[in-house]
Amino acid sequence: MYTMGALQLPQGVVDALDARRRAFLWAGEESVSGAQCLVSWSKSCLPKENGGLGVRDLSLQNTCLLMKLLHRAHTATDSAWSRWLETEFGGPLEAPESTSAGTHWASLRQLLPDYRLLTTVEVGDGRSTTFWHDCWLAAGPLVDAMPALYTHARRPEASVHHVLVSDLRLAFVPRLSSVATEELTELTAVLAEINLTNAQDVRRCPWEDKAHRLSSSMIYKSIIAVGVSCDYYKFIWENRAPPKVKFFGWLLVQDRIQTRENLLKKNCIDSDLCELCGAQVESTTHLIAGCAFAVGFWHWIGVQIDEEDVAALWRVQPPSTIPAAHFNAFLLLCCWRLWKHRHDVVFRSLPP
Ligand SMILES: [Zn+2]
Repeated sequence: MYTMGALQLPQGVVDALDARRRAFLWAGEESVSGAQCLVSWSKSCLPKENGGLGVRDLSLQNTCLLMKLLHRAHTATDSAWSRWLETEFGGPLEAPESTSAGTHWASLRQLLPDYRLLTTVEVGDGRSTTFWHDCWLAAGPLVDAMPALYTHARRPEASVHHVLVSDLRLAFVPRLSSVATEELTELTAVLAEINLTNAQDVRRCPWEDKAHRLSSSMIYKSIIAVGVSCDYYKFIWENRAPPKVKFFGWLLVQDRIQTRENLLKKNCIDSDLCELCGAQVESTTHLIAGCAFAVGFWHWIGVQIDEEDVAALWRVQPPSTIPAAHFNAFLLLCCWRLWKHRHDVVFRSLPP
């Protein structure tokens, strides 16, 4: 984990690790075929709250840990490494692009554009804030607010301090376009209101704690699952069923269990007929609620469930005989037993 937090993982390393993790998840082996992977890796990497399995996305996790270090370089005075950047180069902004500041810093530097999007700055002396790219004015980053003028900037990476203590006219390459000239007039008015102080710039991020440490897990969660919702999180995960039953339930609600219908789609078998009744296609809905054996089972335990209910099992209501608090676990265990019984009939020739 230390290594992950210190350097950008090369994509080849991430891919190799993911291949191993995927094989372990779906086959428990060294390698795995595509047909054995029942849910896509990207979906498996979503948090459980968003319909995934909560497997960590290594690249993103790596990036979030690096962001945490980057934030420390900009804010912490008690970090030895941050102080070293300060004394060696005059702060993170002045540290060179080359690897003379170490591969560690070169790796972090690539993330500066993303980091700046996540933070806002209250300017003090303006030394650790970029004039164009940081969000330090109400209008947002100047590169977006004054794009025409930015194309004339002599030093796109200049600090706020550097621009404000120099002659503003010399900060641009002539001749300015008419739009850029208008933007310069506007900028001059805005800068007239700014007074630098001797205090350090204060950088803030919505994902920091009270001690201004960045929470890498909060950034991770906010980035990985943007706009992805899920209906079945509580039903599958917030109950006391054994983990293997929850995992089965997760596959079941996505129609990804290895029914004969799904196996035929992958060309693994020649027929999708149900082996319990021999009359209909063995789909997930048929197996759980349509097959004569399943219908008899649910009737016997007093649970009202139809084939249409299988796609939204979390909406099935508990009968009065079963405590509501444990009904989700009960329902999952019932589906699991039906599935195991199907295996007994198909693979061990037991009677239905
Ligand atoms: Zn059947």
